[in-house]
Amino acid sequence: MSKNVLVLADVREQKLRNVSFEALAAARMVAEGGQITAAVFGSFAKDLVDPLAHYGADRVITVLNPELDQYTTDAYFQAFKKVIEHVQPDVILTGHTAVGRDVSPRVAARLGTGLISDCTNVELVNGQIVFTRPIYAGKAFVKKVVKDGIVFATLRPNNIAAGEPDGNRTAQVEELQVDFAPDSLRTLVKDIVKKSAGGVDLSEARIIVSGGRGVKSAEGFKPLQELADVLGGAVGASRGACDSGYCDYALQIGQTGKVVTPDLYIACGISGAIQHLAGMSNSKVIVAINKDPEAPIFQVADYGIVGDLFEVVPLLTEEFKKLLA
Ligand code: FAD
Repeated sequence: MSKNVLVLADVREQKLRNVSFEALAAARMVAEGGQITAAVFGSFAKDLVDPLAHYGADRVITVLNPELDQYTTDAYFQAFKKVIEHVQPDVILTGHTAVGRDVSPRVAARLGTGLISDCTNVELVNGQIVFTRPIYAGKAFVKKVVKDGIVFATLRPNNIAAGEPDGNRTAQVEELQVDFAPDSLRTLVKDIVKKSAGGVDLSEARIIVSGGRGVKSAEGFKPLQELADVLGGAVGASRGACDSGYCDYALQIGQTGKVVTPDLYIACGISGAIQHLAGMSNSKVIVAINKDPEAPIFQVADYGIVGDLFEVVPLLTEEFKKLLA
């Protein structure tokens, strides 16, 4: 049976994040001929219609209020709820990002629907949408279906292939008016102070070079940054490194940090505590560099290098420089 699917576009700095395209790919997988609608918010939203259409949206709903230029819970909540009431979708998909994680449970609660969060896969089995999500900090996976009512899910970035855009596709565009009551927006974003992750967004990075306590100092992160720069990746860290003051907590990966699924994760001087693995063990290829051959990180690594990271990392950087020159 065909299903109408609504995707909330995830926008940062007026640009669509890749997870928006991944959600559209998931929408195409489950719609079975139903209409795919993307909602995109902000005064610049019209500029983002084409890529949404190219990746599979049949209809794009824009909400152009400037109050939506920066994410705030109140404004997004009201706009998203209004779009849902307007579209009446069977399925709603958002990214499992800071935005999706904040707004989706609120909207789901208000609509009286359930929410399957942090899905790493979506498939259609005998007409039923089956979501896969990790449990027990990534040690096991569970499959979930919604038996009744709206299907609402958040999708972990970097898990569902976005596919190739079709530059010839167009979408029907509709502008929806949302009137915010003056006292309904309780937060005003005045300024955004960026915490650096080496220029590449950690949660969407395809390659991450991550440092642990073995990096020994803030200075010790420099060779990791150089390797990340050569590979076009981002730098991450264990909590051990953050707690030791070697880097900012914005870089922390793990149970209480960011959850990442890059194509390549290079763990340097990280022991591999379960709380760290919870944030990175689903990476497609894991390389571990550690001078302790018994370090638990080697149990999840596809490739292990037993050695001093300060010798190994510069060698890798030099080799990749030659390869990628
Ligand atoms: P260590 O365990 O000290 O390991 C350092 C490693 O570096 C060692 O294996 C050592 O052999 C190696 N090494 C040293 N020098 C070199 C060298 N020159 N070359 C190569 N290797 C070298 N941790 C997280 O990472 N993320 C989380 O989100 C997180 N959440 C937590 C939540 C809770 C509730 C708790 C209790 C803990 C959490 N932790 C988290 C902490 C976690 O348990 C570990 O303490 C932490 O991951 C250890 O960091 P590390 O591997 O960098 O340090």
